[in-house]
Amino acid sequence: MLNVLTRAIVTLSLCAASLTVQAATVTTNEVALDAIFSQASFDPNAPNSIAPIDIRFLPTLRLDGPRFTTVDSSSVIVDGNDLGTEVAYLLQQPFVQFSATDRIYMLFVDSITACDGGGNNPSIVGCALINGNRILVQSDFASGTYGAELLGHEIAHNLGIGPHSSGGLMNATLNGETDLTAAQVRTIAQSPLIQNPQSPSPFLQIQPVDVYDGSTAVVPLPPAGLALVGALGAFALRRRRTSKS
Ligand SMILES: [Zn+2]
Repeated sequence: MLNVLTRAIVTLSLCAASLTVQAATVTTNEVALDAIFSQASFDPNAPNSIAPIDIRFLPTLRLDGPRFTTVDSSSVIVDGNDLGTEVAYLLQQPFVQFSATDRIYMLFVDSITACDGGGNNPSIVGCALINGNRILVQSDFASGTYGAELLGHEIAHNLGIGPHSSGGLMNATLNGETDLTAAQVRTIAQSPLIQNPQSPSPFLQIQPVDVYDGSTAVVPLPPAGLALVGALGAFALRRRRTSKS
C-alpha cells in the first residue's frame, strides 16, 4: 500500500512560478465569510458555543495538476491500482502539499461534477469531507453571487457538520441563506481546526489552492503520511440552486 501511495504522488506537483496558463480563479470572499462565522449564534456566553471565528486566508498555493482542473467521478489509476475517484483522490490522499493540520486546504477548480460516489452530476459545485480539512469548489461559483455561501457551507462540513439542514447555510442546495443554528455552532466549536478555541478571538486558517494546467513535467514527491487517511470518509456536497436533491 505504501508503494501505491508513493507512486500516486507523481501526478501532482506544486509550482511556485507565476505562469500565464489556464487556471481556476481564486475568490476568497473573506469579508463575507467573516460575517457568516461571526453571526449571532456564535455566542461565547452560551454553553459549549464559541466566540465569533475570524476567517484568515493564507497565500494561495498553485497546484500543477492538468488532469484535475476538471474533477469528476472517474477513477485515478496509477500503475494499475485504483486509487479512487478524482474527488476521493484529491480530498483524501496524503499529499505532502496538504500535510499541515492547522488549516483547511480549499482547492479551486474549473469544474466539479462529482462528490459522493453517486456518479457525475453537473449540478455539483462543491465537495468537502466531514471533519476533513480539504474542500473542492468550482471557481466560477466561488466568484459569483453564491460564493461566500458555497465556501461557508463547505467549511462548515470540514468543521464537523454532517447532515444537511432544511434551509440556512447547510441546506443541500444554494438558497441565498447563510444562517447557522446554535446547535450547528456547538458542533463547529468542537473542531480541532479552530485555533485558540477558548479565547475571545478564535480563528480559522484557510489555504487557497489554485489547481491549474501547467502542462509541465511533474516532480515526484514523498507522501506526507504513512497510511491512507482512514477508510473512505463521508463526503458532503453543495448543489446548484436549480438542482433538487
Ligand atoms: Zn453539503
